[in-house]
Amino acid sequence: MSLLIVATPIGNLGDITLRAVETLKQSDFVAAEDTRTAKKLFTKFDIHSALIAFHAHSSEREVEKIIEKLKSGKSVALISEAGTPTISDPGSILVRRAIEEEIKVIPIPGACAAIAALSASGLRTDKFLFLGFLPTKKGRRKLIENLKNEERTVIFYESPHRIEKTLQQFGEILGDKREIVLARELTKLHEEFFRGTIAQATEFLTAKKPRGEFTILLAGM
Ligand code: SAM
Repeated sequence: MSLLIVATPIGNLGDITLRAVETLKQSDFVAAEDTRTAKKLFTKFDIHSALIAFHAHSSEREVEKIIEKLKSGKSVALISEAGTPTISDPGSILVRRAIEEEIKVIPIPGACAAIAALSASGLRTDKFLFLGFLPTKKGRRKLIENLKNEERTVIFYESPHRIEKTLQQFGEILGDKREIVLARELTKLHEEFFRGTIAQATEFLTAKKPRGEFTILLAGM
């Protein structure tokens, strides 16, 4: 049957779509990156489909088990911990395998932190580059250096404990006058946008030590 790539909220449960709820209810199996988060969603929206775990460390065998289910006529919905599956989240291998097996892959669109952040950033949106998480070691510096003359808005995901260090490095390599936007805790109670130069953003982070999830947007030159 079909593999359904179902976007779920990035914080605010009100952002789930009607189609996502219907799809999750009607699917024979829901493959979830985090079964605990999935159970909360299931309780809230009265979903009773069978849950299976599918995460970054799932083996090839587990991918094949899902492919077998699909080939035997079952429908499988894929959800990640938050947002759109496969976008800096597991699932691309499963999607590729399904396509190879001529299984229909259907996106059920919804929240995605990168797009939500970009849409309200005030930065150029006609052309942008999504880089997901920066590599922590190898290739990191080179990658940032390559953005010196980048004209498009660049979007990154970053973990809260690395954000200060990342901005310091951006300042060193790209110059601390480059414009940046930090989108914090999108769709949640403490949602906040910081807009300014890299120097100002670093100051803001050092002074306020804000917590939570961040999406970083670097203005194009
Ligand atoms: N697949 C997800 C999506 O569609 O947005 C992204 C998953 S990725 C593992 C998690 C990263 O997304 C976080 O480290 C953060 O950079 C960003 N993110 C997720 N939720 C966010 C939120 N509510 N506000 C800001 N950034 C968020």
